[in-house]
Amino acid sequence: MSAQTAAEEVSSYLERHNVKRRVEDAINAAVKAKALNPLEFIAEELKAPSERSSREPDPDIVHIARSQPRDWRTGAICFDITYDDEVTRRVPIGRLMDLKDKTIEFDEVTNAINDWIDVANKHPYIRRHCICCRSRATPGKILCKKCDTRVGETVYA
Ligand SMILES: [Zn+2]
Repeated sequence: MSAQTAAEEVSSYLERHNVKRRVEDAINAAVKAKALNPLEFIAEELKAPSERSSREPDPDIVHIARSQPRDWRTGAICFDITYDDEVTRRVPIGRLMDLKDKTIEFDEVTNAINDWIDVANKHPYIRRHCICCRSRATPGKILCKKCDTRVGETVYA
């Protein structure tokens, strides 16, 4: 077998089984996921989906601070959340609300909101800002009038 024929055979073999493409995809996936153990990750990626051990995604972590940061543009309260990709992002509270379903993503956020509601109830005459903007909250509430009409049903649900 000439060298050229052998090389051609190798390349047609690889092509037939889509090897290059799958290996490249697996490497890219490992890079994208910043896998701690890239070779293990790649080996897992290369398995047929049915044989993969279920790689449970890491749970997203919501960092609760005693005083939550606010978005400098809108004044909305933000949560720092570490997502599955291990990147921490500062997310304004509005983006954690599903206004259609009237639900809030993450129990930690719901709990924080309920705590604020409690405190506002107990101390209605302390001036506080709306959790969604820079405006003054309605006394005894955690939202301003304007935000109340928009997100009130979700926040006080
Ligand atoms: Zn507001």
